[in-house]
Amino acid sequence: NLTADSLTAFSNAAAGHDGVLSDPSGTLLIKPCTPRELAFYESLHLHPTLAPYVPAFLGTLAPSTPADIPPEAAAEATSLSEAVAAQPNHNRNLLIVLENLTAPFEHPTILDLKLGAQLWDDEASLEKRKRLDDVANATTSGSLGYRIAGMKVWDPITSSYKVYDKMYGRQFNESDIIKGVEDFFAGLGDETELKIKLAERFLSTASGVREVLEKEESRMYSASLLFVFEGGAKELREALEQEAILDEERRKKQEARRASGIDTDDEEVDDDEEEEDDDVPRKGVENCKLIDFAHASWTPGQGPDENLLRGVRNVEKLFGEFLEKQKAKL
Ligand code: ADP
Ligand code: MN
Repeated sequence: NLTADSLTAFSNAAAGHDGVLSDPSGTLLIKPCTPRELAFYESLHLHPTLAPYVPAFLGTLAPSTPADIPPEAAAEATSLSEAVAAQPNHNRNLLIVLENLTAPFEHPTILDLKLGAQLWDDEASLEKRKRLDDVANATTSGSLGYRIAGMKVWDPITSSYKVYDKMYGRQFNESDIIKGVEDFFAGLGDETELKIKLAERFLSTASGVREVLEKEESRMYSASLLFVFEGGAKELREALEQEAILDEERRKKQEARRASGIDTDDEEVDDDEEEEDDDVPRKGVENCKLIDFAHASWTPGQGPDENLLRGVRNVEKLFGEFLEKQKAKL
């Protein structure tokens, strides 16, 4: 029941183009996208190990002005993405519907880390390649393979967001980039143990992304790791408590099942649990996913995406370093 006039501007973007929308419930994110991004999401089922690390893809919305697609192009195309790909001047008039990664949070604190030293794909003009290379060479994109593209940090003291725009992340170099992570967690004040818990989870998810992409043959230029956590310390603690209770319930149920001799594989049990818990609104602790596939494609035969992987490895190092610093405070 999604109608164009029920959509509102999405207010939790940390970076990127304007024009991102959300639905009235706030669970969906509707984003103008390139044909490449749609093709990427449409082919994701062929790469099931990556699926847990990207937002759920729920489909497309028809462009608001279908007349934009010339009938000849649309007639030859076998999919919506091909129809739009047929017209180079209309690069972003497709709308994809994704899971909104910030939905389960009361006050989401958000960090967008843009990955890669090369940030352009084969479709970019020479002018664009040079422009993006110049930015990369002047920032940690070049030296580390990632940079802070933007942040929104909830400040519980003022009950407002601190917004860090795209210029903020460009000031850092290899030796002071850690300050960016400190700003990301700054809303938690001196809650060192909460910071450690979150950073451990982010590190572990980044490692999961790396392990999957080491086995894929893909090229993702200018994709991002999006990190989100519950920015209110009080709400974060509540979310952790709820998580612990649900984990404990799940453990008990599994144990009971095992004791009664019912032999189900773990996956099936997980599915059952998921369904039963559906009516309890889950509070978010943290979330980290790979996003922005405007310049991503599968490249069989070309080996893993070292441009992206170098960035992810250095992101792991960054969170590792932050963790060490926090642990030293305990
Ligand atoms: P762009 O090509 O404009 O950079 P992105 O896919 O990077 O497009 O989206 C822009 C911003 O929107 C991101 O920095 C992020 O903060 C937000 N965003 C994108 N996808 C999601 C999502 N599925 N859930 C929540 N926020 C998202
Ligand atoms: Mn982006």
